[in-house]
Amino acid sequence: MVNQPQKYQVIIVGGGLAGLTSGLHLSNHGISVLLIEKNTYPNHKVCGEYVSNEVLNYLNWLGVDPLAHGAIPIRKFQISTHDGATTETDLPLGGFGMSRYALDLMLFEKVKDQMDVVFDQVEQILFENDEFTIRTNSKSHYKAEFVIGAFGKRSNLDVHLKREFIQNRSSWLAVKAHYEYEFPEELVTLHNFEGGYCGLSKVETGAVNACYLVQYKAFKEHSGITDFQNSVMIRNPHLAAFFKEAKPLFDRPLSIAQVSFQSKNPIDNHVFMVGDSAGLIHPLCGNGMAMAMHGAKLISEILVKAFKDASKNRNSLELAYSKAWRETFGSRLYYGRMLQRLLLSNSLSHWGVQLVKNFPALIPKLISKTHGSTF
Ligand SMILES: Cc1cc2nc3c(=O)[nH]c(=O)nc-3n(C[C@H](O)[C@H](O)[C@H](O)COP(=O)(O)OP(=O)(O)OC[C@H]3O[C@@H](n4cnc5c(N)ncnc54)[C@H](O)[C@@H]3O)c2cc1C
Repeated sequence: MVNQPQKYQVIIVGGGLAGLTSGLHLSNHGISVLLIEKNTYPNHKVCGEYVSNEVLNYLNWLGVDPLAHGAIPIRKFQISTHDGATTETDLPLGGFGMSRYALDLMLFEKVKDQMDVVFDQVEQILFENDEFTIRTNSKSHYKAEFVIGAFGKRSNLDVHLKREFIQNRSSWLAVKAHYEYEFPEELVTLHNFEGGYCGLSKVETGAVNACYLVQYKAFKEHSGITDFQNSVMIRNPHLAAFFKEAKPLFDRPLSIAQVSFQSKNPIDNHVFMVGDSAGLIHPLCGNGMAMAMHGAKLISEILVKAFKDASKNRNSLELAYSKAWRETFGSRLYYGRMLQRLLLSNSLSHWGVQLVKNFPALIPKLISKTHGSTF
């Protein structure tokens, strides 16, 4: 007799912030959840590691407290143009600095006590006869009533699901590393350079995280990361001082290519997409992690209610989630694109920094367009 795979109410594919938080939310309500993640914890991820305070109430409600795990409160924001002209302001809501190494691990430590977790790469998500079958790299298969796709900005599953954005090449490359460097605790900075921008802020270890995004066409003229940093980035005097004095704490920086900001659908093949799987906001907004967790909350609330009321009409649930997702995040993504365009143009960003120097109240207004409020 062939063993039937165990059937879960919900399978979550991907155990980053969106997957881990939706797992905690659903299992807190007694829903049977399987989380499948391809990598073990902890590990470093390419990320600016500045988290908006929007998430604090929700994380506390889920039973975790980043500040108790050493996260560093951040209240001030500084921005500089290519030639180093700066302006600084208080952040409207503020945030905290915590490495993904520590943040994802903190959540995973709780997740592993509350639900089944499998470390494997999902290869296929099949939907047939109103149920899902998930097949993994190790030839295991699992069944579920609902699937949450929390597999990040670019995954083998985007190819498998024939998602539109994956057909197009993206021109963005991202690099991140931790450094020992004298840096104010409560500050996050965004320094522009030709072809991109670099964020600096402290994380819970006291290290400074330097994370930058650059257009491939600007990068490819150089022989690698060090050459690019020493030839282009140091034309901004803030970055020149940083790369001259900062002591690298990683053997080599982490990098990822093909970072795509194209629109995606919050539902594909009946899978509820959450976090970067549903859409990535430009990192300069510092809101992607909050959006990943907020999206997790939106879909979890919809599924919790559906199981509680036994009203699991798939079509209605999909419509409800798409609507909630677009209402919550649509305008943030739009303003993120506008800001990115503004910052990448040297003349516009110079003009922009001069403008906000004269009218400092503009920055908090712009920031709040790409952020939400506490959820
Ligand atoms: C350069 C850069 C800087 C950024 N800086 C910031 C910042 O300062 N502040 C901020 O708020 N946001 C920032 N972001 C955005 C933020 O990193 C993301 O929005 C956030 O990580 C989204 O979380 P997620 O759970 O959707 O995806 P992820 O954290 O990427 O998690 C996806 C998970 O899915 C797993 N996975 C993928 N495919 C499979 C598969 N087939 N099977 C099993 N598992 C799979 C992966 O291993 C991964 O663990 C930045 C992004 C970039 C690119």
